[in-house]
Amino acid sequence: MKQSVKLIVGNWKMNGLGASLAEAEVLKDALEADPAACRVVLCPPATLIERMARLLGGGAVETGGQDCHDEPSGAFTGSVSAEMLADAGARLVILGHSESRASFAETDAGVAAKVETALAAGLEPIICVGETLEQRDAGEAIDVVSRQIAGSLPVSLTGQPFAVAYEPIWAIGTGRTPTLEEIEAMHRAVRAAMLKRLGAGGAAAPILYGGSVKPGNAAEILAVPEVGGALVGGASLKAEDFLGIIRGT
Ligand code: PEP
Repeated sequence: MKQSVKLIVGNWKMNGLGASLAEAEVLKDALEADPAACRVVLCPPATLIERMARLLGGGAVETGGQDCHDEPSGAFTGSVSAEMLADAGARLVILGHSESRASFAETDAGVAAKVETALAAGLEPIICVGETLEQRDAGEAIDVVSRQIAGSLPVSLTGQPFAVAYEPIWAIGTGRTPTLEEIEAMHRAVRAAMLKRLGAGGAAAPILYGGSVKPGNAAEILAVPEVGGALVGGASLKAEDFLGIIRGT
């Protein structure tokens, strides 16, 4: 079976000032000189999207947002709409990240509403799911992510470009990762839940793994069946680290 190109997404979270764009520039230059075997996206904070998108020029590295509101516009002080992200130059958007789900008490239905708004704005959603350590220890990981997929993926995704990111919450920013066998089992379960939810529409979208991906473990994780890429936090902040992951694809 043909292996599709991996999708490697960097999530800068609430990190990065204007000076940090130098890292994006190093990345762009490196990938223009020696093109990646994968698709590469950087998701800076909203304040940097426009400048980063202009700097990157939509070439070797694409730009994405980290979240958006579920309404297209209105009296929502402090929020950013999907259309605003697209207008600033974003082409993708991370939705339902566990940090957003926790900080803003986001429900699966709320994430699904954001996905609809993102699609309407022409953005490619990256929808995050993942279990807590307590849920994993209780043997509930597959049930939890299957429920999240059933609730967070609207049927309107069928036929649209999108990705799902499986991110065990206990692996995010902790330096801990599941075993390769655990990653494979979870990715197979995520695919099954996507097929159940979207039918054939859930067959092709890549399933990214996220949680303490680094240059030293990226290649083996990316070689696991059904791992279609990676969502990378801390190791995407420095071009050198992120390149180490990208070169592992
Ligand atoms: C993330 O931000 O989604 C993430 C996986 O972070 P880290 O790579 O730092 O664990």
